[in-house]
Amino acid sequence: MSDPENLNKNELVNEINILRKEKNAVILSHFYQTADIQDIADFVGDSLALSQQAAKTKADIIIFAGVYFMAETAKILSPEKKVIIPDKGAGCSLADSCKKEDFEKFIAQYPGSTVITYVNTTAEIKALSDISCTSSNARQIVESLPVDTQIIFGPDRNLGNYINSLTGRNMIVWNGSCHVHEQFSLEAIVKLKNDNSGAKIIAHPECEMPVRIIADFIGSTSDLLRFIKEDNSNCYIVATEPGILHKMKLAKPDKIFLTIPPKDSTCGCNECNFMKMITLEKIYNSLKFEKPEVILDQDLIKRASIPIKRMLDISQKHRL
Ligand code: SF4
Repeated sequence: MSDPENLNKNELVNEINILRKEKNAVILSHFYQTADIQDIADFVGDSLALSQQAAKTKADIIIFAGVYFMAETAKILSPEKKVIIPDKGAGCSLADSCKKEDFEKFIAQYPGSTVITYVNTTAEIKALSDISCTSSNARQIVESLPVDTQIIFGPDRNLGNYINSLTGRNMIVWNGSCHVHEQFSLEAIVKLKNDNSGAKIIAHPECEMPVRIIADFIGSTSDLLRFIKEDNSNCYIVATEPGILHKMKLAKPDKIFLTIPPKDSTCGCNECNFMKMITLEKIYNSLKFEKPEVILDQDLIKRASIPIKRMLDISQKHRL
């Protein structure tokens, strides 16, 4: 048995390839993973695309290079498959900002509401929801409901407020947030803009309102990637987790992509520490030993699958 610590990167990738073939496994990676993981993944995408891949894969094992709620979503959509997350500690500050007991009390205050929650939630929160959404489809999900529907939206306050501003709906928004997207320094963005004539600011909707206001384009990671491919500028200030820069640079090697320093200079960079807990070595071990596996109660899977499937149906209808 090979010890991953004794293997160089090429050997490690080779071993991963042998194991994935032997075990009919697929490696799904989020855009926020490191470049070496994105490069070996069978599929790289945002939360929506990863959910869609998880739902249709023919593999027996899904290795999820992302954070725990994403692996849970894959398990909910493919309960018959073995879903493995290489590090179970890869959590999410946004999902953690919405606890089941608190959210139950919150929604009980607004009887008759339709509850839409971002996919960045635990399975238990999904089970309390009517429809899931991602940053790619949140607007279409909200607009698919009659205008007089009272909507509760959670857990991201920035995405919720942004969707309110786009749709003119007055959704009741849960007060949660992502620590990565709230770290971008407005002053640093303005300075980068001043120092780089013609640079465009592109931002994820989980960013705070002042950043969204000065952004030239706002969208999910997939939307941002599509934008830089189609837009004719040659420099971008990218307000989302810097893992996405790997695909941006591959798609447009001649363009310049600038990352933004955090407000808190002691925290060094704007990487998602949870996403970066996954490594090639951990992927190798998880394939080899087929753990840690995501195990969910059957009843929870049944209840949590309803809002996700509703989201996927609406997305398919709108071809998102
Ligand atoms: S970037 Fe934010 S929302 Fe995404 S996984 Fe990390 S903490 Fe969660």
